[in-house]
Amino acid sequence: MRARRGVVYLVGAGPGDPGLMTRRSLELIADADAIYYDRLIPPGALDGARADAELIYVGKQPGVPSVPQAEIGERLVEAGRAGKSVVRLKGGDPFVFGRGGEEGEALRAAGVEFEVVPGVTAGVAATAYAGIPVTHRDDASAVAFVTGHEDPEKAETALDWEALASFPGTLVFYMGVKRLGENAAALIAAGRDAGEPAAAIERGTWAGQRTVTATLGTIAATVEGEGIGAPALIVIGAVAARREALEWLERRPLHGRTVVVTRARAQASGLAATLRGLGAEVVELPAIRIEPRTRSEEVRRAVATIADYDLICLTSPNGANLLFEALAASGRDGRAPGRPTGAGIGAGTPGGRDARALAGATVAAIGPGTARALAAHGIAADVVPERFVAEALVEALADVEVEGKRVLVARAAEARDVLPDALRERGGEVDVVALYETVREAPDDAAVEAAQRADYVTFTSSSTVRNLAEALGERFPTAARIVSIGPITSATVREAGLEIAVEAERHDVDGLLAALLADAAAR
Ligand code: SAH
Repeated sequence: MRARRGVVYLVGAGPGDPGLMTRRSLELIADADAIYYDRLIPPGALDGARADAELIYVGKQPGVPSVPQAEIGERLVEAGRAGKSVVRLKGGDPFVFGRGGEEGEALRAAGVEFEVVPGVTAGVAATAYAGIPVTHRDDASAVAFVTGHEDPEKAETALDWEALASFPGTLVFYMGVKRLGENAAALIAAGRDAGEPAAAIERGTWAGQRTVTATLGTIAATVEGEGIGAPALIVIGAVAARREALEWLERRPLHGRTVVVTRARAQASGLAATLRGLGAEVVELPAIRIEPRTRSEEVRRAVATIADYDLICLTSPNGANLLFEALAASGRDGRAPGRPTGAGIGAGTPGGRDARALAGATVAAIGPGTARALAAHGIAADVVPERFVAEALVEALADVEVEGKRVLVARAAEARDVLPDALRERGGEVDVVALYETVREAPDDAAVEAAQRADYVTFTSSSTVRNLAEALGERFPTAARIVSIGPITSATVREAGLEIAVEAERHDVDGLLAALLADAAAR
């Protein structure tokens, strides 16, 4: 246990991008007995918590009754005294406008041990993500973090406007949207130049980050006009104009777009990560899950006699990966010794067959993704069609001798029969085995809700279309543009009564991404 019992950890979770959470914060979240968390913590921040950890929301929301600060302190004291390891998780840094100081004082007064884990504060993170350096050799040799007193619990302003007006550097206002008009006027009245560059950064480092720039004199009207709301930072200083040259996050091609990924969770991560890297907000709404069937009798039989096949066809990356899993398992089962084990040069772990079992066969992959999966297992596919559909693979196999040959088609349970039928027609002795089946996964309500804001819904197979359309019914986000990986998937989309906005020219995930990017750029 890295989190000690009876200790309260005042932990900063950073400004919103999960990647900006510290290692220490993740370690403690993973260990804690109880986690008291705020509203503005990064998405998924609590994913690593123990299944039996108590997760207690104590956030404040403007205009909504919340747990009073004194009571939070009491609850932390109680939990610490009960001998729990307690994480008090806050947005940004716990000691920067985070009331972590007050909580620490309450704990000390009660004799409860605490530790502080700093977090990346919004004042440097949101600014950096907006392309605004808070200091700059030419523009600002100091920076002040100031509260704009958006805190509903605090009525009057205690700021020294004269001092702030003459402060020789950048002013970063936290909680500054609500009183922006008054505050900007007060600064100008106290002598700050109305023409000084200014910026407002809304939801900094989150997928929906939005930045507007103006001058001190015009920033309030700009913020109002653009509908910038909390959480937002206001930056006043010459550095705000540096954004013109340094802006990066909001320039990414999919920034501000929400994209739904419908692939099974096991395969979604690559596509989701790429989309996020391009700036998109990704909603994972898996409609299906892959259920391996590698232990079925038909798969065991095919794998045991795999050396007898002249041609082996794989129709998905999943299939390729599962075939190798089945091979490895078949060696360990001792059912099909593919090579002598425990004897010979450098004999290692017994069992576990590998790519060498396919040495004699011609190997065909339906597309580049499947070919890549094969390559990862040491097989360079002999045949890979350009287009990622069964018909294309049939064409690509035109030059391969099939007559009287033994052929293995290893694929999903519910695939189309185009490929085996065509190979049988050409005189092949074809065995079809199902390495996995896809089963419906119930959609998560929060994800369904998030999907309603989507700009795009991506489909990479007919089965995801059917399952998602049926599972969502009326709740399907019909305002989003549907991007399909290819004609078969598109046909299923139309059958489901939906419209295709974009169809990939290359029928793999890269092709789908390229099509989506082109569409987004054109709109
Ligand atoms: N402890 C936090 C600040 C809490 S006060 C920290 O260190 O960042 C809450 C204020 O912080 C908000 O009103 C807003 O001004 C600012 N803030 C927090 N997260 C933000 C974000 N992602 N983007 C812009 N401002 C943010």
